[in-house]
Amino acid sequence: MDAKPKEINEFTEKALQIVWDNGEESIFFYEELREICPCATCRRLRKKSRTGKLPFKKRIPLGKSSLAPERIEYVGNYAIRFIGENWCETGFYTFDFLRKTSVPGG
Ligand SMILES: [Zn+2]
Repeated sequence: MDAKPKEINEFTEKALQIVWDNGEESIFFYEELREICPCATCRRLRKKSRTGKLPFKKRIPLGKSSLAPERIEYVGNYAIRFIGENWCETGFYTFDFLRKTSVPGG
């Protein structure tokens, strides 16, 4: 059985905490989550980019605006997405993807 979020909490203004239903906890920095946005557009941008990273610093006035999303929505029972001006509504962060992204114990 794959773990699902039991709780999704604002950890700091820069990071999100997920408490999984198996008792584990993960911390995700919004900046890192934004960087790995799984939507088709961001995937294409990363592929084209020389560094393999999103050129999002060009598009987002970092420092002026926080990356913290306005809200987080569930997508079915398999993913979440972030709603806010710097986020992609079609970027579905599946629980599986988030589990693989998180650093154990971190
Ligand atoms: Zn995206």
